[in-house]
Amino acid sequence: MTASRRGTVYLVGAGPGDPELLTLKAVRLLAVADVVLHDDLVPAAVLAHAERSLIINVGKRCGRKNISQEQINAMLVDYARRGLSVVRLKSGDPLVFGRAGEEMEALATAGIAFEVVPGITAAFAAAAALRRPLTDRRRASSIKFSAGRHAPGIEQDLGIRGGSPSDATRVIYMPGRDLRAVAAELRREGLASDVPCAIVSRAAQPDQQIVRTTLGRLDRARGGPTPSILLVGEVLRETESATAVEEVVRHAAGVGERWPKPMEL
Ligand code: SAH
Repeated sequence: MTASRRGTVYLVGAGPGDPELLTLKAVRLLAVADVVLHDDLVPAAVLAHAERSLIINVGKRCGRKNISQEQINAMLVDYARRGLSVVRLKSGDPLVFGRAGEEMEALATAGIAFEVVPGITAAFAAAAALRRPLTDRRRASSIKFSAGRHAPGIEQDLGIRGGSPSDATRVIYMPGRDLRAVAAELRREGLASDVPCAIVSRAAQPDQQIVRTTLGRLDRARGGPTPSILLVGEVLRETESATAVEEVVRHAAGVGERWPKPMEL
């Protein structure tokens, strides 16, 4: 176990929202951090673990003028140079669609020590909410994470291990409200219209919502509130009755229940 070192930046995964899905390391680093710079998607229940830190929201919707990535990089360097223990807290896993690459480059250039603490990415929380596997030796041998905002750029790598297009489970982060472009892209990749899709909104949060559909109907689907993530693939095909699964999912996620405060954990 590493002790928290002064002058070091920790890029820490906050997980999908449920504070019980934080790693022990994340909890420990938050407890002793001098400064925590976090994104919008990190809920208060997670930030409650940073009891003695200066907490700064550097997210895009923080109500202030947008903080640019360059400014965030500069803040990380500046706080670390002052000899502080800095936690850069990102939702999910810090290395998945989180601009961590740019931050690590800036830290390395400035000669600042840094460490990465993984977190549970939204894809895994969504699959857990759906109670479906992301891989299944009968249905999918690979997983493809992509960002919906860049959907037109999805590469045509259909020939993964020579398998059919449906051999890969697709997980699309930031799918947006209008799913037409994403649906069209998936069709172009060769996926059939009956391939199951699920939009999981606020996975692992008290108000988690699931919308199930097929690729043929995806362009008309509306997911719940943000953040939401889109899963597409044969692995989602239900074997049990949808209603029964929904009941269990709601129960497992503790939907409607209050999160315990850190001290109650
Ligand atoms: N680093 C994060 C992803 C950041 S990009 C991770 O590993 O999860 C932000 C996108 O992540 C959102 O637009 C959404 O698509 C997804 N996301 C993050 N938290 C989520 C949650 N609790 N439920 C559903 N999607 C989530």
